[in-house]
Amino acid sequence: MTFHTLTRVASILIVSLALALPARAVTLLRDADMEYALAQVAAPVLKAAGLSAARTKILVVDDSSLNAFVISNDAIYIHSGLISRMDRAAMLQAVIAHEAAHIANGHITRRMTNIGNARTAAGLGQALAVLAAAAGAGEGAVAIGIGTQSAAQRAFLRHTRAEESAADQSGVRYLRSAGIDVTGMLDVFRLFRGQEALSESRQDPYVRSHPLSRDRLRAIEGFASAYGTGGAADAAAWDYWFMRAKGKLTAFTRRPSWTLNRVGESGYRDIALMREAAARHRNSQTRQAIAAIDQAIALRPTDPFLYDLKGQILMETRQFAAAANTHARAVQLRPNDGLLQAGYGRALLAAGNVRAALPALERARQIDFRDGSMLRDLSVAYAKSGQRGMASLITAERYALRGRLEDAGIHAKRATGLLAVGSGPWQRAQDVLLASERAEKQRNRR
Ligand SMILES: [Zn+2]
Repeated sequence: MTFHTLTRVASILIVSLALALPARAVTLLRDADMEYALAQVAAPVLKAAGLSAARTKILVVDDSSLNAFVISNDAIYIHSGLISRMDRAAMLQAVIAHEAAHIANGHITRRMTNIGNARTAAGLGQALAVLAAAAGAGEGAVAIGIGTQSAAQRAFLRHTRAEESAADQSGVRYLRSAGIDVTGMLDVFRLFRGQEALSESRQDPYVRSHPLSRDRLRAIEGFASAYGTGGAADAAAWDYWFMRAKGKLTAFTRRPSWTLNRVGESGYRDIALMREAAARHRNSQTRQAIAAIDQAIALRPTDPFLYDLKGQILMETRQFAAAANTHARAVQLRPNDGLLQAGYGRALLAAGNVRAALPALERARQIDFRDGSMLRDLSVAYAKSGQRGMASLITAERYALRGRLEDAGIHAKRATGLLAVGSGPWQRAQDVLLASERAEKQRNRR
């Protein structure tokens, strides 16, 4: 699991021209295992909403407050605090159903259209679009992250009561058609109950952005008693993947002693062992950590994510060659996962095998460019292999992704001087340079 800070690009895109708010950073928790598990939980809901499960990512924000939000059509953001407070898949599926309904009902598109016009796409938004295009990610690249700190951001995120009840209704419809227990939505409401009476500063951000009216609660209670407890054959599998996502998340965000007191509470032996491995590793008990992850692997020998965790443990205890071999197994079992590829490339680089690290990291970038630590490794790999122009280009793109366009411009300028004029990489450097110059003009105008 890596903690990766990204700039709240969308917030800048939306408000920078009008309000000159400073960029705020949000930290995404990127982990192949957790994201795969969340995708399994989300898939039936997204399908029922008519959204593509492959194109709608569930991303976890490192924030202990309770919140979930959408700012574009290609990702649903969920705070780590909300996941760790829920205890079954149906609750998370209810949250995803509600957010998916905001997407499917066009609430986000409408808001973007209202606020944005051609001019707001200048600057950062365009820089991100450029990066996404270069990485083959297509449209929707502005969806990096957004917070709820400022009044302007809150105003943008705040849904109207009409939108809330529409999203609840559509959400319940998705849950029903997927055979998911509708009472999960009621349980989510219970987490927030009473918060409307609190002052804004004490409310969780979810309540500020999704007003919880008494009518809304009553309507949900009605749905829950009418439609009840689901009955899909897959419900047990969804609960497994939910416990796995939550188990991995808390094993890396709570104290190791907290985790070790609760390893078994998921009810699944392999998840207990995976959590024990993570907690022992964070406690510097490497021998016990390896023993636990090996037992988990014995239970699920073709599970790529268990090898990924073992590789991380080996890597972080400086057993680089063994780490590379273990990550190779993960990648072999699941070749099209950008985060797994990045872990493999990182281990190869640490083991001194730059020649093999470079294509692994390039492949990781092409699959999923929103990974700052991968971009850092990739620029190191280019530098070590003597490709200084490429190293500068990747560094420029990494800064651009974090919203640091001034630094991005410096490295992009260096890259354009080193790369073959007119080549693909040279074009990418030009694009970052252009975005950086535009951002500077906007800064000067204020
Ligand atoms: Zn809502």
